[in-house]
Amino acid sequence: MRTFLRTEAPTEYTVDHTPPKDAMGLGDATYQAWRHRVAGKGWLAAHWPTEYAGAGMTTMEQFILKEEFALHYTPHPGGRAIEMVGPTVIMHGTDAQKRELLPPILRGEHIYCQGFSEPEAGSDLAAVNLRAVREGDEYVLNGQKIWTSNATTCNWMFFLARTDPDAPKHRGISYFVMPMDSEGLSVRTITDMAGGDELCEAFFDNVRVPASYRIGEEDRGWYVAMTTLDFERSGIAGAVGLQQDILDFLRVARPLPPADPCREALAELYIGSEVARQMSFNIASQQERGLVPNYEASMAKLFSSELGQRFARVAVSTAGMRGMLQGEGTPHAFREGRLPNQLIRSLPRTIAGGSSEVQRGIIATRGLGLPRG
Ligand SMILES: Cc1cc2nc3c(=O)[nH]c(=O)nc-3n(C[C@H](O)[C@H](O)[C@H](O)COP(=O)(O)OP(=O)(O)OC[C@H]3O[C@@H](n4cnc5c(N)ncnc54)[C@H](O)[C@@H]3O)c2cc1C
Repeated sequence: MRTFLRTEAPTEYTVDHTPPKDAMGLGDATYQAWRHRVAGKGWLAAHWPTEYAGAGMTTMEQFILKEEFALHYTPHPGGRAIEMVGPTVIMHGTDAQKRELLPPILRGEHIYCQGFSEPEAGSDLAAVNLRAVREGDEYVLNGQKIWTSNATTCNWMFFLARTDPDAPKHRGISYFVMPMDSEGLSVRTITDMAGGDELCEAFFDNVRVPASYRIGEEDRGWYVAMTTLDFERSGIAGAVGLQQDILDFLRVARPLPPADPCREALAELYIGSEVARQMSFNIASQQERGLVPNYEASMAKLFSSELGQRFARVAVSTAGMRGMLQGEGTPHAFREGRLPNQLIRSLPRTIAGGSSEVQRGIIATRGLGLPRG
């Protein structure tokens, strides 16, 4: 694997350490080509069973694979389809759904965005209100999703919709997939504070989805979704990525005089990044033993997202005034002007995938056994 990464990964990752422009969508040709090369090796769906053309790796083998990719500054091009949708279809889908939906994911043809959040359903995800009404062999959808990352560059979506408005809220939700070119679906981008346009809103106006695209039983989608979320949380690539960022930064930063307070801050951050790696390792080791990590995944997410923010702040202040110059090609900019962008992009990480407050709530109740507030 190391030889493959050294010799075949694009040098813009391995040498220039430039991240792909659209790692979660179809908008980056180099990344798409890289996805096909990794798929050709059989390493795209590391955790899928071999009967579904996955690599059938153990949890620890997957951990090592992701760690090696990250150590080579190279993204593992799995994305949501491989990491989240595939395992859900394998676990909850019918044979016909497996035959139809899995091969295009493995070929890198279907790239999925995640339509979970709505204006009134974020932390309280079970409040989703996109309405799905059954009509014959179809469902008719009306409502809205928000914060749907990469919706303009993905061609499929997996999402939650309310099929029974009268049932208790966790019990009236169903889980669906559908192509983004479905009639009646419109997508609008939201410009974020870094100037990016990955975040989107999706509006459903009488969108018709075949009932055969419902994964799992009607009204049981909450439990199907929980399996999907379980696949999202080991986080080793992020932990290694942060460590690499710190080492990269140290290589190019000006030599720091012994009394510079940034020295101590950077040392602490590096130690923190090793803690983050060990937390990910702990999660993988639990999974390897057949346990289901719970508050441990919240601890890892909370710790590494907040550590990433601290590092970005320290990096900008260590680099001094040059650290604030933004944009490639800006004269005198530090590290091609990447730092301010890195700082701004670190901020939403403590919101996306469950906010820090929500993670602390999980740690308090499930980890420490404290009563619910
Ligand atoms: C960069 C980014 C990408 C995203 N991508 C996607 C995506 O692709 N698909 C998708 O479906 N969603 C996506 N999201 C949405 C994300 O999942 C939600 O933003 C997140 O779950 C928080 O929900 P909310 O924004 O509705 O905030 P709210 O839930 O309204 O929370 C508002 C505030 O209240 C606090 N709060 C809420 N509940 C509690 C509680 N029980 N205890 C203590 N404090 C609480 C929160 O911490 C927060 O500070 C993305 C978000 C971001 C920032």
